[in-house]
Amino acid sequence: MNRKLLLIILDGVPYRNWRRLFGNLEGWAASGEARVWRMRAVLPSTSASCYASIHTGVTPQVHGCTGNGNVFRLKEPDVFSEVRKAGGVTGAVAHSFWSQFFNRHPFDMVRDIEYDEPESTTINHGRFHTMTGYGDINQMTPSDVDLFATLTSLAGRFGLNYGMLHTCTLDSMGHRFYHDCEEMDHACYVMDEMLGPFIPRWRAMGYEVIVTADHGQDARGHHGGTGEDQQDFALYYFGEGQGPGKDVLLDQLQLAPTILSRLGAPIPKTMKAKPFLK
Ligand SMILES: [Zn+2]
Repeated sequence: MNRKLLLIILDGVPYRNWRRLFGNLEGWAASGEARVWRMRAVLPSTSASCYASIHTGVTPQVHGCTGNGNVFRLKEPDVFSEVRKAGGVTGAVAHSFWSQFFNRHPFDMVRDIEYDEPESTTINHGRFHTMTGYGDINQMTPSDVDLFATLTSLAGRFGLNYGMLHTCTLDSMGHRFYHDCEEMDHACYVMDEMLGPFIPRWRAMGYEVIVTADHGQDARGHHGGTGEDQQDFALYYFGEGQGPGKDVLLDQLQLAPTILSRLGAPIPKTMKAKPFLK
């Protein structure tokens, strides 16, 4: 495999916040370096259920993850496993649910917090965090710039073909402060500024980059159910692939087969949605 792609998932950012508050991403969309679309999450629009669907391309009704209290090693092929089958190297910097879904469950804090496993059939290079103790008065999220730096380090040191980064900062902020407030304006602004310098750096390293969310949030910071506020988010794409018109609503199930097609890896039969990039 000689193609490379990074998937950046900012947890729980509704469409309106992306388009209103992420000035660097919007600037690149305006100048043509990026394309941006609206994408709709699966149901339930709950984090764990969405993570599982993002990477397997099947609905929660098929993979069986009904919510954050029901995390297990998924049985369906996913982006990590298919990149490995095609000869690529994978990495992840993410919440520990991602390790549980796609590598090993249960999560052993010492064994699984950090691993380098060149022979793995799924995640070769993992750096995880559990957010143990998470709540409204203590978010327990790492600094996002540290996570971006960790992914960049893994990508450079290990020659990742596919790297996935996931961070819960903005989801936690939304649950805590809701959306019509100074705290959320600032949190999105800081995230956009922290992410900004990494995008050209990753592009210079030869990566296509997708920046998106797992789901939205409504005015009370809620998600899990239906409707544009809870389900919809933006997807920004930096790369040479050609996509649909700007008003086309993308389906979250398209993400996994799209990533595999960009990397030149075969798409498994279980992923029935059509890639949105050619
Ligand atoms: Zn989430």
